[in-house]
Amino acid sequence: MSFSSLGLSAPILKAVAEKGYDTPSPIQAQAIPAILQGKDIMAAAQTGTGKTAGFTLPILELLSKGERARANQARALILTPTRELAAQVSKSVATYGKNLPLRSAVVFGGVKINPQMMKLRKGVDILVATPGRLLDLYKQNAVQFKQLEILVLDEADRMLDMGFIHDIKKIIAALPRQRQNLLFSATFSNEIRDLAKGFVKNPIEISVSPRNTTAKTVEQWVYPVDKKQKSALLAQLIHNNQWQQVLVFSRTKHGANRLTRQLETGGIKAVAIHGDKSQGARTKALVDFKKGLVRVLVATDIAARGLDIDQLPHVVNFDLPNVAEDYVHRIGRTGRAGATGQAVSLVSADEIKQLTDIEQLIRQLLTRKYIDGFEPVHDVPESHLAGPKKPKKPKKTKTEHKDGQRSGENSQGHKPSAKKKYHGKPSRTTTKPTVKTRSGNSRRQSKVRSS
Ligand code: AMP
Repeated sequence: MSFSSLGLSAPILKAVAEKGYDTPSPIQAQAIPAILQGKDIMAAAQTGTGKTAGFTLPILELLSKGERARANQARALILTPTRELAAQVSKSVATYGKNLPLRSAVVFGGVKINPQMMKLRKGVDILVATPGRLLDLYKQNAVQFKQLEILVLDEADRMLDMGFIHDIKKIIAALPRQRQNLLFSATFSNEIRDLAKGFVKNPIEISVSPRNTTAKTVEQWVYPVDKKQKSALLAQLIHNNQWQQVLVFSRTKHGANRLTRQLETGGIKAVAIHGDKSQGARTKALVDFKKGLVRVLVATDIAARGLDIDQLPHVVNFDLPNVAEDYVHRIGRTGRAGATGQAVSLVSADEIKQLTDIEQLIRQLLTRKYIDGFEPVHDVPESHLAGPKKPKKPKKTKTEHKDGQRSGENSQGHKPSAKKKYHGKPSRTTTKPTVKTRSGNSRRQSKVRSS
């Protein structure tokens, strides 16, 4: 299939060709004709699938035909959860729309509002926005929606995770009822479906990747390691394997700052990107990382959302995320558009619950590898994939679910032993000379090694 068969006009096809795309990605092949027909859509698609062009190209096509935006009006509104994603989407709008006489703008928080108000004064055909700043602008009458034709919610699941539900509802209430709605989300939880019910009409549902799967092109494994050894292990992995461009995820802003300092002390150029950094610092960090001036970008989940870095070879989970779906998003930063990538997680014993949740979600036990000198004193308990649900037992036992605990877990989420429910064993493999395979009872061994 080619782009020209999708119903796009010459100025758009030219821009697409200049970008170097020759074949539409699966989401584009499905979404573009449906959007051009004026349908509402609900699309399950992660970053990396080409979803941005999937909605931007047909929106440009539709808007190129109608009446231009009047003062302070917006004809299409694209809502995104983060500033980075907003900037990225707006860049795509500019790239794909460069041969059309349409105006676009991007607005997000963390920067001055006045220049944004000025930009909106003449009216824009496409407005890309984060919800909070858009509401501020709306309240100040800097933007109006009388001419609004199309609403896009991009990464809707993340918007809900980030607590934007009330802002989104307020925005939707301010829009004309007659409009086209496009909803994109990596996952379709019941919450998303509830949100969708409130505003999409007879949507065409599109799914290009099965829910919560990880790309086959991404090689994944974990290094069980004690918490206090994590930064030294990361530095060694970067040095020994000569990783040149590594995106590292940290659960907290504080942890991201600390790790950045530790890496810098070890002579590895690193920079942190998180919500406490100014927009300018975040943009610079990303640019430097893309250019190769910085070897390691340490990011929190929210800051990393929407980062579009082509061919990122290595993603490291310095901490495992508390929400298992975030693991899928995180490692989706590598192995994009068919390229191969590696996703490595440094896992300490207290993260067994997160590890188990992730393995359960992706239906796969992650291979465990050990590096000489970094074998954990507190080994990560063995994990397992739960089998199909068994019929309920008539009587409660001590090990049944209680206060959100799993069977056999204590209150810290540790699993004292992998007994009856064990359905598989993670393979322990060796990759490089420094990586060690362990045999026998790893926990007994680690006790012997404790220092
Ligand atoms: P997205 O999922 O929208 O973030 O896009 C992921 C990456 O795929 C971006 O770097 C796009 O430039 C690229 N991309 C989008 N569509 C295509 C296509 N049809 N062919 C090749 N690359 C594409």
